[in-house]
Amino acid sequence: MLIRSLSNLECTHLLISTRVGHLACAKDSIPYVVPIYFAFEHNYLYAFSMPGRKIDFMQANPKVSVCVEEHGKGREWKSVIVDGSYEELPDRLGHKQQRDHAWSLLSKHLDWWEPGGLKPVTPALSDHSDHVFFRVFVDQVSGREAKETI
Ligand SMILES: Cc1cc2nc3c(=O)[nH]c(=O)nc-3n(C[C@H](O)[C@H](O)[C@H](O)COP(=O)(O)OP(=O)(O)OC[C@H]3O[C@@H](n4cnc5c(N)ncnc54)[C@H](O)[C@@H]3O)c2cc1C
Repeated sequence: MLIRSLSNLECTHLLISTRVGHLACAKDSIPYVVPIYFAFEHNYLYAFSMPGRKIDFMQANPKVSVCVEEHGKGREWKSVIVDGSYEELPDRLGHKQQRDHAWSLLSKHLDWWEPGGLKPVTPALSDHSDHVFFRVFVDQVSGREAKETI
């Protein structure tokens, strides 16, 4: 296997073409990782969630990391790691445009809201209005690729 670093442009391409990643956050030195859907545009990852542990963590400490990966043929893979900063997009003046923009990006996919809008013990999104749109500003990005050598 040959491992090489991806260029910034290649990282951007993977972030655009991928929909799911693993979001890592930390609070009081306790780490937490969850799978999450996102949409990437102009150096931001946009996402949607109900209140819960990851939102609590990111409100307390906005520094996050997101890992996305793509598997190729055989043992080949690509992955990108984003170091970024959490920004909440609340439903109030000053944030409405960005919140609507997050909605328009995420809603390009059918049932986009379902994983973030349902919890084991709470009713469906339609019964709630306390959902959270947020975005992660990409402070730094790195990527690697593993390729078969023959
Ligand atoms: C492919 C995929 C896409 C998803 N997309 C989204 C999305 O866009 N937005 C979104 O909000 N959520 C998404 N989810 C669900 C997400 O992974 C979390 O389960 C959910 O958001 C709840 O997270 P929370 O921090 O609010 O947990 P809480 O509801 O506060 O849960 C507390 C505890 O439950 C456990 N827990 C929570 N989630 C999981 C889990 N997935 N697996 C195992 N244990 C868990 C943990 O121990 C956690 O400490 C997605 C999941 C998958 C698999």
